[in-house]
Amino acid sequence: MAEAALTELAGIVGESQCTAAASEREFFAVDGLTPGCVVYPDSAEQAAQTLEWAAGRDLAVIACGGATKLGIGNSPRKYDIALCTRNITKVDYYEPSDLTAGVGAGMALTDFQKQLKPDGLWLPLDLPGCAKGTLGGVVATNASGPLRHFYGAPRDMVVGMQIATPEGKLIRTGGRVVKNVAGYDLGKLMIGSYGTLGVITEVNLKLFPLPAECQTFVLSVGTLDIARDLRRRILALPIELLRMVLLDAEMAGIAHPGLQPGRPACGPQIWLEAGGSKSVIDRTRKELEAVSRAAGAKFHSCEWEASEKVWKMISDFANWFGKTYPGAVVLKGTMPIAHGEEFQSFAQQEAQNEKIKLVVVSLPGVGMLELGLLGLQNAAQAAGFVSRIRKVAEESGGALTVISATAEVKALVDVWGGPETTFELMRKLKAAWDPEGVLAPGRFVGSI
Ligand SMILES: Cc1cc2nc3c(=O)[nH]c(=O)nc-3n(C[C@H](O)[C@H](O)[C@H](O)COP(=O)(O)OP(=O)(O)OC[C@H]3O[C@@H](n4cnc5c(N)ncnc54)[C@H](O)[C@@H]3O)c2cc1C
Repeated sequence: MAEAALTELAGIVGESQCTAAASEREFFAVDGLTPGCVVYPDSAEQAAQTLEWAAGRDLAVIACGGATKLGIGNSPRKYDIALCTRNITKVDYYEPSDLTAGVGAGMALTDFQKQLKPDGLWLPLDLPGCAKGTLGGVVATNASGPLRHFYGAPRDMVVGMQIATPEGKLIRTGGRVVKNVAGYDLGKLMIGSYGTLGVITEVNLKLFPLPAECQTFVLSVGTLDIARDLRRRILALPIELLRMVLLDAEMAGIAHPGLQPGRPACGPQIWLEAGGSKSVIDRTRKELEAVSRAAGAKFHSCEWEASEKVWKMISDFANWFGKTYPGAVVLKGTMPIAHGEEFQSFAQQEAQNEKIKLVVVSLPGVGMLELGLLGLQNAAQAAGFVSRIRKVAEESGGALTVISATAEVKALVDVWGGPETTFELMRKLKAAWDPEGVLAPGRFVGSI
């Protein structure tokens, strides 16, 4: 970036918070594209001014938090400035008795949880290995882990937010409490929009009490048919589970080899977590033991330390899989609950035919699956596999998105899937919010 432009930016955010150093630019690179500079605004006002400045000069900005999930989305058409929120961490208010807080979007989720714990509270999102993920990034991606089974996604926890727009305005939407003023809820539009409509500068959150005790149970199910049967039986039980995950045989072997001697021949496992008082946990154990016996599955209780490791691994699946196996592709499928096992079985059959190694982690009570692909011969094989299983996901009323892939694969297959019937509305919204195309141009659905 030209020296004069950097000087102007430094005039907005301060000289020490604006850099063109190669190491920092590379940290925020997306699909091999490195921004011309990185800015670290201290406040929402500085973030809004940076956007307005960029819009006036036809420059493209990508909002960044901890850079743990910047790879999600199409490759950007243009990328001049990485606007990192890591300095916007002020706690605007924190009311433990009301279970609410308003926090700067750059605060890392891990740091936020540390502040809540002494009061026996938390934001019930499973903490993945990527401890640097910020609240803004979590909300912008609406990402959730296995706790989604009971608590829902960030969309269910955000009651309001502040947004910086490319026009240089700061907008407040929603409120501080769960029941707030009626009208269009612009916050809902921002959640899951991957930073393409505005930069989230503050989030107002609903907090939850930490469960008194937690206990993990593992059901070795042997086959996907038994997994389907058990999913139905478990969801019909009069118990509430915090997490419910189906691991395919590969993932079960990787996650906890001790429980799966001779892996992966022992087959898939369902991991479940109960939370609450001792009597709630005892009742859950009895109910689960009974359904396991009835379905022909093996039942184990898992001690805390071992189960914590596995839950972290499962929550962070997309991240560690992509990092552990360079060149791997990670996909996310969402579909009606009833179709999950059938879709998984189809994907496994396709992978076997193509000699691709497939690892699957799914949330059978939610209808979400993550699929890791290894041993791909080339980008064309990856793209063909994605297209075939995407068709099946779509036919069952679902969708399939690419979470992590090389730029070569992204060039051959649409990351988000074909634009839906709502696309025209999305295009108009993008044009209204970001008429100059400043924010992450090309990254979202239909390359908007
Ligand atoms: C299946 C799965 C489960 C996960 N489960 C959890 C979980 O339970 N809990 C959890 O904390 N994390 C979870 N994560 C990871 C977590 O979502 C990411 O680490 C986090 O969303 C990214 O935060 P970041 O600050 O690193 O954002 P970045 O990687 O820097 O950015 C991610 C996206 O958000 C946009 N963005 C970032 N900040 C802003 C902002 N302030 N305003 C507007 N747009 C912005 C970026 O432009 C980009 O599109 C999960 C991820 C996956 C794939």
